[in-house]
Amino acid sequence: MDIKSTNLVVGAGFSGAVIANLIAGELGESVLVIDKKNHIAGNCYDFRDKNGIMIHKYGSHIFHTNSEKVWAYMKKFTDFNTYMHKVVGYLDGIETHIPFNFNTLYDVFPESFARRLEEKLLDVFEINTKVPILEFQKQDDDDLKFLANYVYEKIFLHYTTKQWGVSPQDVDDAVTARVPVYLSKDNRYFQDKYQGIPLEGYTKVVERMLDNKNITLKLGTDYKDLKDKGFKRIFYTGPIDEFYDYKFGQLPYRSVNFKFETYDKEYYQSSACVNYPCNYDFTRIHEYKYYLDDKSDKTVIAKEYSEFFELGKNERYYPIPKEENDALYNKYLEESKKDANVYFLGRLGDYKYYNMDRAIERAIEVFEEVCK
Ligand code: FAD
Ligand code: UDP
Repeated sequence: MDIKSTNLVVGAGFSGAVIANLIAGELGESVLVIDKKNHIAGNCYDFRDKNGIMIHKYGSHIFHTNSEKVWAYMKKFTDFNTYMHKVVGYLDGIETHIPFNFNTLYDVFPESFARRLEEKLLDVFEINTKVPILEFQKQDDDDLKFLANYVYEKIFLHYTTKQWGVSPQDVDDAVTARVPVYLSKDNRYFQDKYQGIPLEGYTKVVERMLDNKNITLKLGTDYKDLKDKGFKRIFYTGPIDEFYDYKFGQLPYRSVNFKFETYDKEYYQSSACVNYPCNYDFTRIHEYKYYLDDKSDKTVIAKEYSEFFELGKNERYYPIPKEENDALYNKYLEESKKDANVYFLGRLGDYKYYNMDRAIERAIEVFEEVCK
Protein backbone atom coordinates (compact mmCIF):
# COMPACT_ATOMS: atom_id res chain seq x y z
CA MET A 1 0.00 0.00 0.00
CA ASP A 2 1.36 3.41 -0.95
CA ILE A 3 0.74 5.39 2.24
CA LYS A 4 1.21 8.77 0.53
CA SER A 5 -1.76 8.22 -1.79
CA THR A 6 -3.92 6.49 0.85
CA ASN A 7 -6.53 8.08 3.10
CA LEU A 8 -6.59 6.81 6.68
CA VAL A 9 -9.94 6.62 8.44
CA VAL A 10 -9.73 5.98 12.17
CA GLY A 11 -12.92 4.35 13.45
CA ALA A 12 -15.36 2.08 11.61
CA GLY A 13 -18.54 3.51 13.13
CA PHE A 14 -21.03 5.39 10.95
CA SER A 15 -18.85 8.51 10.74
CA GLY A 16 -15.81 6.57 9.53
CA ALA A 17 -17.78 4.23 7.26
CA VAL A 18 -19.57 7.08 5.48
CA ILE A 19 -16.44 9.12 4.78
CA ALA A 20 -14.56 5.99 3.64
CA ASN A 21 -17.45 5.01 1.38
CA LEU A 22 -17.56 8.44 -0.26
CA ILE A 23 -13.81 8.76 -0.78
CA ALA A 24 -13.50 5.24 -2.19
CA GLY A 25 -16.69 5.40 -4.25
CA GLU A 26 -16.77 8.97 -5.54
CA LEU A 27 -13.06 9.79 -5.76
CA GLY A 28 -11.80 6.24 -6.45
CA GLU A 29 -8.98 6.83 -3.95
CA SER A 30 -7.65 4.13 -1.67
CA VAL A 31 -8.72 4.15 1.97
CA LEU A 32 -7.41 2.27 4.98
CA VAL A 33 -10.06 2.00 7.71
CA ILE A 34 -8.86 0.94 11.15
CA ASP A 35 -10.76 0.32 14.37
CA LYS A 36 -9.35 -0.70 17.70
CA LYS A 37 -12.42 -2.80 18.36
CA ASN A 38 -12.69 -6.23 16.75
CA HIS A 39 -15.93 -5.34 14.97
CA ILE A 40 -17.27 -2.61 12.69
CA ALA A 41 -20.21 -0.20 13.30
CA GLY A 42 -18.91 1.39 16.51
CA ASN A 43 -21.67 2.04 19.03
CA CYS A 44 -24.30 0.97 16.47
CA TYR A 45 -22.95 -2.58 16.37
CA ASP A 46 -25.67 -5.24 16.39
CA PHE A 47 -25.63 -9.02 15.95
CA ARG A 48 -28.05 -11.96 16.02
CA ASP A 49 -27.59 -14.06 19.14
CA LYS A 50 -28.12 -17.82 19.45
CA ASN A 51 -31.88 -17.26 19.88
CA GLY A 52 -32.05 -15.38 16.58
CA ILE A 53 -32.64 -12.06 18.34
CA MET A 54 -30.89 -8.96 16.98
CA ILE A 55 -29.01 -7.47 19.94
CA HIS A 56 -27.83 -3.84 19.96
CA LYS A 57 -24.64 -4.37 21.95
CA TYR A 58 -24.22 -0.72 22.99
CA GLY A 59 -27.87 0.16 23.66
CA SER A 60 -31.04 0.50 21.58
CA HIS A 61 -30.54 2.29 18.28
CA ILE A 62 -33.56 3.67 16.44
CA PHE A 63 -32.91 5.45 13.17
CA HIS A 64 -34.83 8.70 12.73
CA THR A 65 -34.25 11.73 10.54
CA ASN A 66 -35.88 14.66 8.80
CA SER A 67 -33.00 14.95 6.38
CA GLU A 68 -33.92 13.88 2.82
CA LYS A 69 -30.20 13.70 2.03
CA VAL A 70 -29.35 11.36 4.90
CA TRP A 71 -32.39 9.18 4.26
CA ALA A 72 -31.58 8.85 0.53
CA TYR A 73 -27.97 7.98 1.40
CA MET A 74 -28.98 5.30 3.94
CA LYS A 75 -31.49 3.80 1.51
CA LYS A 76 -28.61 2.94 -0.83
CA PHE A 77 -27.50 0.37 1.72
CA THR A 78 -30.67 -0.91 3.36
CA ASP A 79 -34.44 -1.01 3.57
CA PHE A 80 -36.07 -0.10 6.86
CA ASN A 81 -39.12 -1.41 8.65
CA THR A 82 -41.73 1.11 9.82
CA TYR A 83 -40.93 0.77 13.52
CA MET A 84 -41.84 3.96 15.39
CA HIS A 85 -40.31 4.17 18.84
CA LYS A 86 -42.69 4.53 21.78
CA VAL A 87 -41.24 4.66 25.25
CA VAL A 88 -43.18 3.41 28.22
CA GLY A 89 -42.41 4.95 31.60
CA TYR A 90 -43.19 3.66 35.07
CA LEU A 91 -44.17 6.69 37.11
CA ASP A 92 -44.56 5.39 40.65
CA GLY A 93 -46.05 2.15 39.37
CA ILE A 94 -48.29 3.69 36.69
CA GLU A 95 -47.41 2.48 33.21
CA THR A 96 -47.66 5.46 30.86
CA HIS A 97 -46.05 7.29 27.94
CA ILE A 98 -42.81 9.29 27.76
CA PRO A 99 -42.49 12.09 26.61
CA PHE A 100 -45.21 13.44 28.90
CA ASN A 101 -48.22 14.25 26.70
CA PHE A 102 -52.01 14.52 26.98
CA ASN A 103 -52.37 10.74 27.19
CA THR A 104 -49.90 10.70 30.11
CA LEU A 105 -51.99 13.39 31.80
CA TYR A 106 -55.06 11.14 31.74
CA ASP A 107 -53.05 8.08 32.85
CA VAL A 108 -51.66 9.68 35.99
CA PHE A 109 -54.48 11.99 37.20
CA PRO A 110 -58.21 11.53 37.83
CA GLU A 111 -60.20 12.36 34.69
CA SER A 112 -61.81 15.61 35.91
CA PHE A 113 -58.46 17.02 37.09
CA ALA A 114 -56.74 15.91 33.90
CA ARG A 115 -59.44 17.67 31.83
CA ARG A 116 -58.97 20.90 33.81
CA LEU A 117 -55.21 20.74 33.28
CA GLU A 118 -55.66 20.00 29.58
CA GLU A 119 -57.90 23.06 29.15
CA LYS A 120 -55.48 25.28 31.02
CA LEU A 121 -52.55 23.96 28.99
CA LEU A 122 -54.37 24.73 25.75
CA ASP A 123 -55.00 28.30 26.97
CA VAL A 124 -51.25 28.79 27.35
CA PHE A 125 -49.72 26.64 24.59
CA GLU A 126 -50.55 25.78 20.99
CA ILE A 127 -51.62 22.20 20.39
CA ASN A 128 -48.79 19.91 19.17
CA THR A 129 -46.03 22.14 20.50
CA LYS A 130 -43.03 20.80 22.37
CA VAL A 131 -41.93 22.56 25.53
CA PRO A 132 -38.62 21.74 27.24
CA ILE A 133 -39.18 20.96 30.94
CA LEU A 134 -37.04 23.88 32.16
CA GLU A 135 -39.30 26.20 30.10
CA PHE A 136 -42.46 24.35 31.14
CA GLN A 137 -41.67 25.08 34.78
CA LYS A 138 -42.21 28.82 34.22
CA GLN A 139 -45.95 28.79 35.01
CA ASP A 140 -48.13 31.38 36.80
CA ASP A 141 -51.24 29.29 37.33
CA ASP A 142 -51.22 27.12 40.50
CA ASP A 143 -52.56 24.00 38.76
CA LEU A 144 -49.99 24.28 35.99
CA LYS A 145 -47.26 24.93 38.56
CA PHE A 146 -48.31 21.72 40.29
CA LEU A 147 -48.25 19.86 36.98
CA ALA A 148 -44.83 21.21 36.02
CA ASN A 149 -43.40 20.17 39.40
CA TYR A 150 -44.96 16.74 39.00
CA VAL A 151 -43.43 16.21 35.55
CA TYR A 152 -40.06 17.57 36.68
CA GLU A 153 -39.97 15.40 39.77
CA LYS A 154 -41.41 12.19 38.32
CA ILE A 155 -39.81 12.16 34.87
CA PHE A 156 -36.70 14.34 34.83
CA LEU A 157 -35.12 14.78 38.25
CA HIS A 158 -34.12 11.22 39.16
CA TYR A 159 -33.60 9.98 35.60
CA THR A 160 -31.25 12.88 34.82
CA THR A 161 -29.42 12.42 38.10
CA LYS A 162 -28.94 8.73 37.31
CA GLN A 163 -27.91 9.43 33.71
CA TRP A 164 -25.62 12.43 34.18
CA GLY A 165 -24.77 12.41 37.90
CA VAL A 166 -26.26 15.93 38.28
CA SER A 167 -29.75 17.46 38.35
CA PRO A 168 -31.53 18.80 35.21
CA GLN A 169 -30.42 22.39 36.00
CA ASP A 170 -26.80 21.31 35.88
CA VAL A 171 -26.82 19.70 32.44
CA ASP A 172 -26.98 21.75 29.27
CA ASP A 173 -30.61 22.77 28.55
CA ALA A 174 -30.43 20.96 25.20
CA VAL A 175 -30.08 17.60 26.94
CA THR A 176 -33.48 17.52 28.68
CA ALA A 177 -34.98 19.42 25.70
CA ARG A 178 -34.46 16.20 23.69
CA VAL A 179 -37.49 14.83 25.54
CA PRO A 180 -39.83 17.82 25.87
CA VAL A 181 -43.34 17.94 27.28
CA TYR A 182 -45.43 17.34 24.15
CA LEU A 183 -48.85 19.02 23.96
CA SER A 184 -50.24 16.29 21.80
CA LYS A 185 -51.74 12.81 21.82
CA ASP A 186 -48.86 11.48 19.74
CA ASN A 187 -47.16 8.83 21.90
CA ARG A 188 -44.07 8.47 19.70
CA TYR A 189 -40.62 9.35 21.06
CA PHE A 190 -39.61 10.96 17.75
CA GLN A 191 -41.68 12.91 15.24
CA ASP A 192 -39.19 12.72 12.36
CA LYS A 193 -40.50 12.09 8.85
CA TYR A 194 -38.35 8.97 8.44
CA GLN A 195 -37.98 6.39 11.19
CA GLY A 196 -37.22 2.68 11.37
CA ILE A 197 -34.75 -0.11 11.92
CA PRO A 198 -32.56 -1.41 9.05
CA LEU A 199 -34.04 -4.78 8.07
CA GLU A 200 -30.73 -6.64 8.40
CA GLY A 201 -29.36 -4.49 11.22
CA TYR A 202 -26.84 -1.64 11.46
CA THR A 203 -23.71 -3.76 11.18
CA LYS A 204 -24.85 -4.96 7.75
CA VAL A 205 -25.32 -1.33 6.64
CA VAL A 206 -21.77 -0.44 7.69
CA GLU A 207 -20.44 -3.63 6.08
CA ARG A 208 -22.01 -2.56 2.77
CA MET A 209 -20.60 0.97 3.10
CA LEU A 210 -17.13 -0.51 3.49
CA ASP A 211 -17.56 -3.04 0.69
CA ASN A 212 -15.45 -1.35 -1.99
CA LYS A 213 -12.28 -2.58 -3.70
CA ASN A 214 -10.56 0.68 -2.73
CA ILE A 215 -11.18 0.11 0.99
CA THR A 216 -8.95 -2.00 3.25
CA LEU A 217 -10.30 -2.70 6.74
CA LYS A 218 -8.09 -3.55 9.70
CA LEU A 219 -9.83 -4.34 12.95
CA GLY A 220 -8.13 -4.62 16.33
CA THR A 221 -5.81 -1.81 15.24
CA ASP A 222 -5.27 1.28 17.37
CA TYR A 223 -4.15 4.52 15.70
CA LYS A 224 -1.43 5.00 18.28
CA ASP A 225 0.18 1.69 17.21
CA LEU A 226 0.47 2.65 13.52
CA LYS A 227 4.14 3.13 12.69
CA ASP A 228 3.88 5.15 9.48
CA LYS A 229 1.50 8.10 9.64
CA GLY A 230 2.39 9.81 6.36
CA PHE A 231 -1.06 9.32 4.84
CA LYS A 232 -2.56 11.60 2.20
CA ARG A 233 -5.30 12.59 4.65
CA ILE A 234 -6.37 11.35 8.09
CA PHE A 235 -10.05 11.32 9.11
CA TYR A 236 -10.17 10.77 12.84
CA THR A 237 -13.43 9.68 14.48
CA GLY A 238 -11.84 8.72 17.80
CA PRO A 239 -11.62 11.07 20.81
CA ILE A 240 -9.90 14.33 19.86
CA ASP A 241 -8.31 14.75 23.32
CA GLU A 242 -6.67 11.33 23.04
CA PHE A 243 -5.23 12.26 19.62
CA TYR A 244 -3.41 15.17 21.29
CA ASP A 245 -2.27 13.10 24.30
CA TYR A 246 -4.64 15.04 26.57
CA LYS A 247 -2.30 18.04 26.44
CA PHE A 248 -5.06 20.42 27.61
CA GLY A 249 -6.72 17.86 29.92
CA GLN A 250 -9.31 15.12 29.45
CA LEU A 251 -12.72 15.76 27.93
CA PRO A 252 -15.30 14.23 30.30
CA TYR A 253 -17.76 11.58 29.16
CA ARG A 254 -20.51 9.46 30.64
CA SER A 255 -20.22 5.74 30.20
CA VAL A 256 -22.92 3.08 30.29
CA ASN A 257 -22.98 -0.44 31.63
CA PHE A 258 -25.53 -2.83 30.07
CA LYS A 259 -26.51 -5.86 32.15
CA PHE A 260 -27.96 -8.47 29.80
CA GLU A 261 -30.47 -11.10 30.93
CA THR A 262 -32.19 -13.88 28.99
CA TYR A 263 -35.67 -15.03 29.96
CA ASP A 264 -37.44 -18.24 29.09
CA LYS A 265 -40.62 -16.51 28.01
CA GLU A 266 -41.82 -14.76 24.89
CA TYR A 267 -41.83 -11.18 26.19
CA TYR A 268 -40.48 -9.47 29.31
CA GLN A 269 -42.16 -6.06 29.06
CA SER A 270 -44.83 -4.29 27.01
CA SER A 271 -42.49 -2.43 24.63
CA ALA A 272 -38.91 -2.18 23.41
CA CYS A 273 -37.91 0.44 25.93
CA VAL A 274 -39.25 1.06 29.42
CA ASN A 275 -37.91 4.01 31.41
CA TYR A 276 -37.71 3.98 35.19
CA PRO A 277 -37.47 7.65 36.14
CA CYS A 278 -38.65 7.12 39.74
CA ASN A 279 -37.17 3.78 40.80
CA TYR A 280 -34.05 1.63 40.73
CA ASP A 281 -30.46 2.52 39.82
CA PHE A 282 -30.83 1.72 36.12
CA THR A 283 -32.41 4.28 33.80
CA ARG A 284 -34.22 1.98 31.36
CA ILE A 285 -34.69 -1.60 30.19
CA HIS A 286 -34.35 -2.54 26.53
CA GLU A 287 -36.03 -5.62 25.06
CA TYR A 288 -34.43 -6.23 21.70
CA LYS A 289 -36.80 -8.57 19.88
CA TYR A 290 -39.31 -5.76 19.37
CA TYR A 291 -37.14 -3.84 16.93
CA LEU A 292 -37.26 -6.33 14.08
CA ASP A 293 -40.19 -8.33 15.45
CA ASP A 294 -37.89 -11.34 16.01
CA LYS A 295 -39.68 -14.56 16.88
CA SER A 296 -38.28 -16.72 19.69
CA ASP A 297 -39.65 -18.42 22.80
CA LYS A 298 -36.86 -16.65 24.68
CA THR A 299 -36.28 -12.94 25.14
CA VAL A 300 -33.19 -10.85 25.86
CA ILE A 301 -33.22 -7.63 27.83
CA ALA A 302 -30.58 -5.19 29.04
CA LYS A 303 -30.73 -2.93 32.06
CA GLU A 304 -28.88 0.33 31.41
CA TYR A 305 -26.70 1.77 34.20
CA SER A 306 -24.95 5.07 33.68
CA GLU A 307 -21.54 5.88 35.19
CA PHE A 308 -18.63 8.29 34.78
CA PHE A 309 -16.14 7.46 32.06
CA GLU A 310 -12.73 6.57 33.46
CA LEU A 311 -9.77 6.05 31.16
CA GLY A 312 -8.81 2.37 31.01
CA LYS A 313 -11.87 1.27 32.98
CA ASN A 314 -14.86 1.70 30.65
CA GLU A 315 -15.89 3.15 27.26
CA ARG A 316 -16.88 6.65 26.18
CA TYR A 317 -20.59 6.83 25.37
CA TYR A 318 -21.88 10.36 25.91
CA PRO A 319 -19.99 13.64 25.53
CA ILE A 320 -21.23 15.92 28.31
CA PRO A 321 -22.63 19.13 26.79
CA LYS A 322 -21.57 21.94 29.12
CA GLU A 323 -19.93 25.34 28.67
CA GLU A 324 -16.63 24.44 30.34
CA ASN A 325 -16.39 21.17 28.36
CA ASP A 326 -17.11 23.02 25.11
CA ALA A 327 -14.35 25.50 26.00
CA LEU A 328 -11.89 22.64 26.52
CA TYR A 329 -13.01 21.01 23.27
CA ASN A 330 -12.46 24.34 21.47
CA LYS A 331 -8.81 24.32 22.56
CA TYR A 332 -8.39 20.95 20.83
CA LEU A 333 -10.29 22.22 17.81
CA GLU A 334 -7.90 25.20 17.53
CA GLU A 335 -4.94 22.84 17.90
CA SER A 336 -6.31 20.63 15.11
CA LYS A 337 -6.23 23.55 12.67
CA LYS A 338 -2.40 23.35 12.77
CA ASP A 339 -2.56 19.81 11.33
CA ALA A 340 -3.21 20.44 7.64
CA ASN A 341 -4.18 16.88 6.66
CA VAL A 342 -6.03 15.72 9.77
CA TYR A 343 -9.81 16.10 9.97
CA PHE A 344 -11.95 15.29 13.01
CA LEU A 345 -15.54 14.14 12.88
CA GLY A 346 -18.04 11.96 14.71
CA ARG A 347 -19.40 11.90 18.21
CA LEU A 348 -15.90 11.53 19.70
CA GLY A 349 -13.93 13.58 17.16
CA ASP A 350 -16.32 16.55 17.38
CA TYR A 351 -17.26 15.93 21.04
CA LYS A 352 -20.94 16.38 20.14
CA TYR A 353 -24.05 14.49 21.29
CA TYR A 354 -24.88 13.36 17.72
CA ASN A 355 -27.70 11.04 16.79
CA MET A 356 -26.86 8.66 13.95
CA ASP A 357 -28.41 10.87 11.28
CA ARG A 358 -26.36 13.88 12.35
CA ALA A 359 -23.14 11.81 12.46
CA ILE A 360 -23.86 10.64 8.90
CA GLU A 361 -24.76 14.15 7.70
CA ARG A 362 -21.59 15.54 9.25
CA ALA A 363 -19.45 12.89 7.51
CA ILE A 364 -21.04 13.84 4.19
CA GLU A 365 -20.34 17.53 4.94
CA VAL A 366 -16.68 16.82 5.79
CA PHE A 367 -16.31 14.86 2.55
CA GLU A 368 -17.81 17.73 0.55
CA GLU A 369 -15.64 20.36 2.28
CA VAL A 370 -12.36 18.48 2.22
CA CYS A 371 -12.45 16.34 -0.89
CA LYS A 372 -14.41 18.26 -3.50
P1 FAD B 1 -18.72 5.58 17.20
O1 FAD B 1 -19.87 4.69 16.87
O2 FAD B 1 -18.38 5.76 18.64
O3 FAD B 1 -17.45 5.05 16.40
C1 FAD B 1 -16.14 5.49 16.67
C2 FAD B 1 -15.20 4.31 16.43
O4 FAD B 1 -13.85 4.77 16.52
C3 FAD B 1 -15.36 3.20 17.45
O5 FAD B 1 -15.64 1.97 16.79
C4 FAD B 1 -14.00 3.15 18.16
O6 FAD B 1 -13.61 1.84 18.54
C5 FAD B 1 -13.08 3.74 17.12
N1 FAD B 1 -11.86 4.31 17.69
C6 FAD B 1 -11.77 5.24 18.67
N2 FAD B 1 -10.49 5.54 18.94
C7 FAD B 1 -9.74 4.78 18.10
C8 FAD B 1 -8.33 4.62 17.90
N3 FAD B 1 -7.43 5.30 18.64
N4 FAD B 1 -7.91 3.75 16.98
C9 FAD B 1 -8.80 3.01 16.24
N5 FAD B 1 -10.15 3.13 16.39
C10 FAD B 1 -10.61 3.99 17.30
N6 FAD B 1 -28.47 7.58 17.72
C11 FAD B 1 -29.65 7.54 17.08
O7 FAD B 1 -29.81 8.15 16.02
N7 FAD B 1 -30.70 6.78 17.57
C12 FAD B 1 -30.60 6.08 18.73
O8 FAD B 1 -31.56 5.40 19.15
C13 FAD B 1 -29.36 6.13 19.45
N8 FAD B 1 -29.21 5.46 20.61
C14 FAD B 1 -28.02 5.54 21.28
C15 FAD B 1 -27.90 4.87 22.51
C16 FAD B 1 -26.71 4.93 23.20
C17 FAD B 1 -26.59 4.22 24.53
C18 FAD B 1 -25.61 5.68 22.68
C19 FAD B 1 -24.31 5.76 23.43
C20 FAD B 1 -25.73 6.35 21.47
C21 FAD B 1 -26.94 6.29 20.77
N9 FAD B 1 -27.07 6.94 19.55
C22 FAD B 1 -28.30 6.90 18.89
C23 FAD B 1 -25.96 7.71 18.94
C24 FAD B 1 -25.12 6.85 17.98
O9 FAD B 1 -24.57 5.76 18.67
C25 FAD B 1 -24.01 7.75 17.39
O10 FAD B 1 -24.58 8.84 16.70
C26 FAD B 1 -23.10 7.00 16.42
O11 FAD B 1 -22.63 5.80 16.94
C27 FAD B 1 -21.93 7.90 16.07
O12 FAD B 1 -21.05 7.21 15.22
P2 FAD B 1 -19.50 7.57 15.22
O13 FAD B 1 -18.92 6.80 14.11
O14 FAD B 1 -19.33 9.03 15.26
O15 FAD B 1 -18.96 7.04 16.64
N1 UDP C 1 -34.83 12.23 30.31
C1 UDP C 1 -35.41 12.13 31.55
N2 UDP C 1 -36.35 11.18 31.76
C2 UDP C 1 -36.74 10.31 30.80
C3 UDP C 1 -36.16 10.42 29.52
C4 UDP C 1 -35.19 11.39 29.30
O1 UDP C 1 -35.05 12.87 32.46
O2 UDP C 1 -37.60 9.45 31.07
C5 UDP C 1 -33.79 13.29 30.10
C6 UDP C 1 -32.42 12.80 30.59
O3 UDP C 1 -31.69 13.90 31.06
C7 UDP C 1 -31.83 12.23 29.32
C8 UDP C 1 -32.29 13.27 28.29
O4 UDP C 1 -33.65 13.58 28.72
O5 UDP C 1 -30.43 12.11 29.38
C9 UDP C 1 -32.28 12.82 26.87
O6 UDP C 1 -33.00 11.59 26.75
P1 UDP C 1 -32.80 10.64 25.48
O7 UDP C 1 -33.77 9.52 25.62
O8 UDP C 1 -32.83 11.46 24.25
O9 UDP C 1 -31.32 10.11 25.72
P2 UDP C 1 -30.45 9.01 24.95
O10 UDP C 1 -31.40 8.09 24.24
O11 UDP C 1 -29.53 9.77 24.05
O12 UDP C 1 -29.73 8.34 26.09
